[in-house]
Amino acid sequence: MFKLQTVRGTHDILPHESRRHRLVTETAFEFARRYGYDEISTPIFEMTEVFIRTLGETSDIVTKEMYTFDDRSGDSITLRPEFTAGVARAFISGGLAHCLPLKVFCRGPMFRYERPQKGRLRQFHQIDVEILGVAEPLADIEIIAIGSDILDALGLSEKVTLEINTLGDGKSRANYRAKLVEYFNDYRDKLSDDSLVRLERNPLRILDSKDKGDRDLVAEAPLLSDSLNMRSQEFFGAVTAGLDALSIDYTLSPRLVRGLDYYCHVAFEFLTETLGSQGAVIAGGRYDSLIETMGGPPTPGTGWAAGVERLAMMVNDVPVPVRPVCVVPIGDAAGDEALRVTHRLRRCGFTVELGYSGNVKKRLNRANKINASAAIFLGEDELAKGVATIRDMGSGEQTEAPLASLEEHLTRYR
Ligand code: ATP
Ligand code: MG
Repeated sequence: MFKLQTVRGTHDILPHESRRHRLVTETAFEFARRYGYDEISTPIFEMTEVFIRTLGETSDIVTKEMYTFDDRSGDSITLRPEFTAGVARAFISGGLAHCLPLKVFCRGPMFRYERPQKGRLRQFHQIDVEILGVAEPLADIEIIAIGSDILDALGLSEKVTLEINTLGDGKSRANYRAKLVEYFNDYRDKLSDDSLVRLERNPLRILDSKDKGDRDLVAEAPLLSDSLNMRSQEFFGAVTAGLDALSIDYTLSPRLVRGLDYYCHVAFEFLTETLGSQGAVIAGGRYDSLIETMGGPPTPGTGWAAGVERLAMMVNDVPVPVRPVCVVPIGDAAGDEALRVTHRLRRCGFTVELGYSGNVKKRLNRANKINASAAIFLGEDELAKGVATIRDMGSGEQTEAPLASLEEHLTRYR
């Protein structure tokens, strides 16, 4: 039998859930807009190469989580697992180098083959901000401030903490990498198989390992902060000073990393304890050599992405839908007038429902059910006089109003 259900790890976003999502994405866009970001949309799928180049062949996403398939012409296609790669590709292929600084906001679905659980889906949604072409710490301060403002506006400030770290510049990381390799080489027999591969190809990624044995070793590993050169220290100092100036609280988290070579300087996460083991709600950092790695002109960048489902789950106050007014025709003769009145009021900006069928009682029941603020009765008597009867659904009080100026008598129900 054909199974009528969604694919594991995906779900329908029904109207009440949609309102939560919209609250998150629209609040986010509103703040991004205030900071001068404009929305862009990139395709939901890209050539697989785009993600392999940006995320790196050893990343969890590329090795385990991508939805990759050959399309009918034999091209390898991947459903996007994140935004940054597509944005970087768009920047290069669209020749946007003359638009710097480029400040963009994105929203939309992402696809990762993961073990589904609360707050972890195979199709989920992200909001994302990226700023390209600003090498100064001000850009990092700005994107963190946007994230903080959004969380605040959603009423989530108390539920999240900001953790921040620096990966330093290329030289600092090369220095650190050497120390890490030396350290982990002594524990090759204790490292997980995955981390043995990481040790050869990208030792920083070991710090990100979720393996228990690896984590114990990581706890004793040398700290990146001890390998930072002056330039890197100054950069990070400027970012934290900016956050201090804005009174944005943060915790320094020396083990927070992004294990790819083009990530540098600032890495941060807004974390929560309210979603079980799915702690990260917003994650971001600086990626100064990404665009160059992908074949574009050297262009610094920094940005973050947030999980819409995770944020939506945390939000308490979801706006209720606007209460409609309900037009109730009485008798067949009123049908056309009811249709016209409904149409006119909608064009004036009212949210209007028309009682579609049934007797007056049934239509009134429906008005109650949809939480209408007022019902507008149109019967034979009313039509003869050129009026409508307005019934306040709260008090039950009824008044007559001329049809010609109906909207003026309804302003309090708008
Ligand atoms: P995690 O450690 O939870 O797997 P991540 O490091 O893979 O997160 P990022 O790639 O940084 O996550 O994505 C940014 C944000 O997107 C995360 O902080 C999270 O809020 C959200 N997110 C990531 N993966 C999922 C998923 N499978 N389902 C729902 N939200 C997700
Ligand atoms: Mg993940």
